[in-house]
Amino acid sequence: AKNEGKNSYRLVGIQTHEMAGDRLAWQTRLRRALEQGEILPYYQGIFDTEYGTLAGLEVLARWQSPTDGLIMPGQFIPLAEESGLIKRLGEQILRQACTQGAAWLAEGLEVGLLSINVSAHQLHDKGFLETVERVLEQTGFPAERLDLELSEAIWVEGRESVIDSLTRLRAMGIRVSIDDFGTKYASLAYLRHLPVDRIKIDKSFMDDIPGSDITSAIVSAIMTMATSIGLEVVAEGIENQSQLDFMNGAGCRLIQGYLYGRPQAAEAVPALSRRADFR
Ligand code: C2E
Ligand code: CA
Ligand code: CA
Ligand code: CA
Repeated sequence: AKNEGKNSYRLVGIQTHEMAGDRLAWQTRLRRALEQGEILPYYQGIFDTEYGTLAGLEVLARWQSPTDGLIMPGQFIPLAEESGLIKRLGEQILRQACTQGAAWLAEGLEVGLLSINVSAHQLHDKGFLETVERVLEQTGFPAERLDLELSEAIWVEGRESVIDSLTRLRAMGIRVSIDDFGTKYASLAYLRHLPVDRIKIDKSFMDDIPGSDITSAIVSAIMTMATSIGLEVVAEGIENQSQLDFMNGAGCRLIQGYLYGRPQAAEAVPALSRRADFR
């Protein structure tokens, strides 16, 4: 058995249950929750502020627990990663989102790209590509509308195998995004060599905008660099008008954040897709 200290794993915020703090018990709960279908996709719009329309949706997992209510991913994704349950969780989220996405398409609703978060653990799993291929086949969701968001943490393990996986995903028509860009390596140069389509500038940069000159300069540099090598850029964590104005001014038109809306259940999406006033 792994030797871990008492406090090496903590679920913040859930103290009422007698199992709180007991990792194994929580793993069992999470496994059951997956079996019971309590892990659901929520959707947050990514908007094209030039046209004012919905450009895509980021899919964000929520645990709808009958006993604890809505549990946020910060409280169960690390547990899922640590226990290996992330593979099953990821596949379930992917399958649910693609099923929903295919239904929206069948209704003639334009929702753009579906962006799914993929953990490094998942990408490094041998069966990952086959799983994605199978889910697309079974749900009928077009590969061209699927975008996989990967954090910079994927580079910790074997660069070549990562590049190989990303290349194969893109050959299937799937798009690849680097999530939380600028938080780990903060290197612009390495971008040129990566088989990716898009970067998402991390929210932490937005927290300093427009106040900090240095952050503003870094974000402008990221924009210039990304654009010059043909990468799309999404700004995430946009909460106010001055952040929006700054990003638009820097040439970033794809915007995600509370300014336009929080992640919501699937039922809220059709209304977003019918609007064209997100500017
Ligand atoms: P992330 O991928 O960076 O997702 C963006 C997070 O920022 C989401 O938190 C979203 O609700 C939040 N957010 C969006 N706009 C704003 C804003 O304007 N202000 C603020 N303060 N926050 C904003 P959420 O949903 O709690 O997800 C947290 C993290 O959990 C995600 O960060 C992602 O790393 C992970 N995660 C969520 N769902 C999944 C999943 O299905 N699979 C995997 N592997 N990870 C997931
Ligand atoms: Ca993400
Ligand atoms: Ca992010
Ligand atoms: Ca993040």
